[in-house]
Amino acid sequence: MKERIDWGSLGFGFRDTNCHIRYTWRDGSWDGGELVEGSFVRLHMAATALHYGQSAFEGLKAFGCRDGKTRLFRPWENARRMARTARRLCMAEVPEELFVEAVRRVTDANREFIPPFGTGGSLYVRPLLFGSGPQLGVSPALEYTFLVFVVPVGAYYKGGLTPVRAVVLDEYDRAAPRGVGNIKVAGNYAASLEPHAVAHERGFAVELYLDAAEHRYVEEFGTSNFIGITQDGRYVTPESPSILPSVTNRTLQQIARDFGIPVEVRPVPFAEVPEFAEIGACGTAVVITPVNEIVRGDLVIRVGPRGGCGPTLEKLYATVTEIQYGVRPDPYGWTLEV
Ligand SMILES: *Cc1c(COP(=O)(O)O)cnc(C)c1O
Repeated sequence: MKERIDWGSLGFGFRDTNCHIRYTWRDGSWDGGELVEGSFVRLHMAATALHYGQSAFEGLKAFGCRDGKTRLFRPWENARRMARTARRLCMAEVPEELFVEAVRRVTDANREFIPPFGTGGSLYVRPLLFGSGPQLGVSPALEYTFLVFVVPVGAYYKGGLTPVRAVVLDEYDRAAPRGVGNIKVAGNYAASLEPHAVAHERGFAVELYLDAAEHRYVEEFGTSNFIGITQDGRYVTPESPSILPSVTNRTLQQIARDFGIPVEVRPVPFAEVPEFAEIGACGTAVVITPVNEIVRGDLVIRVGPRGGCGPTLEKLYATVTEIQYGVRPDPYGWTLEV
């Protein structure tokens, strides 16, 4: 099954591995799960995931570490977040132990797909939970499928951290204040595809969303949280009921505090953006993407050093990745050996 993988040329695209793991919930309980070869799911056409959007996902990574071992990064956080999503969408919850066990089993079964230490790659782990039972009336499914697949992915940055330009599109919102922006529901991404395409057409890598009610406060980028570093070195990130709580953001906040950097989680007026010395977008896939320009209509805000990343975000980025790859000790108990 395993063809030789050119670790250096891996991007972020789907590819087949040995197997995925799949569990079914029926009559109030989950089965024991099984490792399944192949990449297809046979699904009832009236499954609630397909027409009513009962569908949640997660994303985390396993790393080939310097000592030759494989470690997952904070899988318990993803387990809890998926449980919150499940509750909000009236889906069967995946217990934390079952989630972590699933992620371990599928990672273990695909060891040869874990990019070796030094290649800069990792094994991306994608858990999915969806209503697989049929309903015609609008109501929760009576059967759920929980599956986890893995894909080897390459280093995002080949050189140093490369900054990108972002745009605010005032004609779009990502999530309503009391809606589902704070959970990882599949439909949030469907809704962001069009604004993302518009941003791309205009030459921007990412779009930045403001609060849907007033367009006065910063929320987050399409698929990553917003971090601003002030001129006097404080870490500022928006607080809002419609932001997706990023594990990466929480990780960076903890590391920042331990470096003595004050952390502020509070509403961030858009008017404050020009004052930041550094701005970053953070998420599992890349950890931090520096943002060096934010455009909103005729307004062009330039941030940070032109050619590269600012020193604070650079230091935080290096620290997280060193913990992930086992180059630096993990005093927090964030990693789980597989
Ligand atoms: C998943 C996601 C993030 C990043 O979360 P991480 O846990 O850091 O990967 C940020 N914003 C949105 C909208 C997301 O769906």
